[in-house]
Amino acid sequence: MARAIKKCMMLCCTSKIATQKEDMAAESYEETIATLTRLLQEKAELGGVAAAKIKELTAELEAAGSKPFNPDERIRSGFIHFKTEKFEKNPDLYGELAKGQSPKFMVFACSDSRVCPSHILDFQPGEAFVVRNIANMVPPYDKTKYSGAGAAIEYAVLHLKVENIVVIGHSCCGGIKGLMSIPDDGTTASDFIEQWVQICNPARSKVKAETSSLSFSEQCTNCEKEAVNVSLGNLLTYPFVRDAVVNKTLALKGAHYNFVNGTFELWDLNFNLLPSVSI
Ligand SMILES: [Zn+2]
Repeated sequence: MARAIKKCMMLCCTSKIATQKEDMAAESYEETIATLTRLLQEKAELGGVAAAKIKELTAELEAAGSKPFNPDERIRSGFIHFKTEKFEKNPDLYGELAKGQSPKFMVFACSDSRVCPSHILDFQPGEAFVVRNIANMVPPYDKTKYSGAGAAIEYAVLHLKVENIVVIGHSCCGGIKGLMSIPDDGTTASDFIEQWVQICNPARSKVKAETSSLSFSEQCTNCEKEAVNVSLGNLLTYPFVRDAVVNKTLALKGAHYNFVNGTFELWDLNFNLLPSVSI
C-alpha cells in the first residue's frame, strides 16, 4: 500500500486517483478505501478529489452488490472530507467559533433527511441554531411537557439573542400526512408520533373545513403550510418570545420548501399566505 501511495504522489491530482483506481481494481474493497483514506490524511490538498473518489467507488461497489453499506466508513470518510475541505481551510472561522456562537437565526425544520436547513439555505457553522423534529412543529408553552423544545427556544431567545426564528415546512412531509390521516374519532395507534403531530391539530381542522374539495395530497400540502402558522402562533405563547417580538428584537418567519419542484416560500408573522419572497 505504501508503494501505491508513493507512486500516486508522483502524478498529477486527477491521474493520481485514476491510476490508483486501476491499480486497485484487483484489491479488496477495504484496501481500496483504506488507501484513499490514508491518501487523504497524508496529502490534504487531495482531500476533495479523494473523498469524491471514495464516494464513487463506494457507490459502484454497492451497486454491484459486492459490499454491504459500512456506516462507520461512511462517517469516517465524511468527517475526513469536512476536516480537509472546510475545517482546515477556514481557520479564522473555526477559531472564532471556538470562542462562542452568535447565530442570527433559530430554525425549526423537519427531521426528514431531505430537508437539512444547512444544506438548502447554505447556513455555515455558527449561523443557525437548529431544532429538528417530526414535521417541524413548535409546541405551545408548557412547563410540564415539551421541555426539549422549550429549553431550545429559551436558550436561543434569552441567551443567544437570535434575531429571527424561522419555521420551515416542506413538501411530502410524512408527519403532516400522519396528522391528516388520524381518524376523525381521534383514535391513534402509535406510541408517540400521532400525539406529537396533533400539536398542529388546528391546521388539520382548518384545512379539512376549508379545502374539503381538494385531493388528500393537496390538502396535505396546504396543511404543511398551515401547520407552520400554528407553530408561529405557538411561539407567541412563550413570554420571552412575545416580549422580544413586541420589542422588535425578534422576527418570526414561516417558510415552505418544496423539494419536488425546487422552490422555497418565505412569509412573515402576519399569517399572510402570500409569500413575501418566492424563489
Ligand atoms: Zn417532514
